[in-house]
Amino acid sequence: MAFTQRHLLGIAPLSVEEIELLLDTADGYVEVNRRSDKKLALLRGLTQINLFFESSTRTRTSFELAGKRLGADVVNMSVATSSIKKGETLIDTAMTLNAMHPDVLVVRHPDSGAVALLARHVRCAVINGGDGSHEHPTQALLDALTIRRRKGRIAGLVVAICGDVLHSRVARSNILLLTRLGARVRLVGPPTLVPGGFRALGVEIFHDLRSGLRGADIVMMLRLQRERMQGSFVPSLREYFALYGLTRRVLEEAAPEALIMHPGPMNRGVEIDGVVADDIHRSAILDQVEMGVAVRMACLDLLTRPLRGEA
Ligand code: ASP
Repeated sequence: MAFTQRHLLGIAPLSVEEIELLLDTADGYVEVNRRSDKKLALLRGLTQINLFFESSTRTRTSFELAGKRLGADVVNMSVATSSIKKGETLIDTAMTLNAMHPDVLVVRHPDSGAVALLARHVRCAVINGGDGSHEHPTQALLDALTIRRRKGRIAGLVVAICGDVLHSRVARSNILLLTRLGARVRLVGPPTLVPGGFRALGVEIFHDLRSGLRGADIVMMLRLQRERMQGSFVPSLREYFALYGLTRRVLEEAAPEALIMHPGPMNRGVEIDGVVADDIHRSAILDQVEMGVAVRMACLDLLTRPLRGEA
């Protein structure tokens, strides 16, 4: 099956077959990343620019490693020292970069829709590295790969996504992907952060953590995205942890082999207790980071196939 998408702007435009192709391709790259010689020549001669308008640890580093391991020339543009700080518009920045003939642009931006707008003004493939509270497709793909490898399947699993769903692009991309692959998705959090409107996406909503976790196979915790909040959505961090923090005790409600996930960065003592996050038997948080490089290699590989004369 050929991957016909020109860009990767979100999970929404992808078919089940395209998601599975991305996951299968990424699966192969997991093994490459565990070898001592990780360097391939697949993207030799191609240029990848990482353009991050928002801070990032995992996403930017793993896109850089992914591009380099596939043999591309990778350039990281730091917004702090670029002309964006001098008032250049997003579209002018896009057209400037386009004139340098990159083959792939990886873009993260604080505004929902900004990456899609930028994609309309460049000729190369654009990958969304997270736009506002809209989508973060590679995160959902790496989460799916983590679940598939640890649990052997996605269909039929009960996945509880807990915390600040309202402001989370990770939640949105995961809801789209996991429901599409047949998981039963629950959203768990206070009504201010998990509004009823999400039901339209085919999920169940719980405002009580214990009930939401009951029998869950996957427990995915989310950070409070305070940089996207105007005013306060929770009375206090201490109260939030008491009601919605994942502790060993509350985790007993979940299925006995339930897997704990978190996209990072984690706020220990706010949405998750450090002891739970560090539990090597239950926590898949570092697996997620490992899968992130493989998934990003798969995205770069599939999106550049037409350039390399492959279907
Ligand atoms: N790293 C994820 C993101 O960029 C989650 C987070 O920031 O809380 O959306």
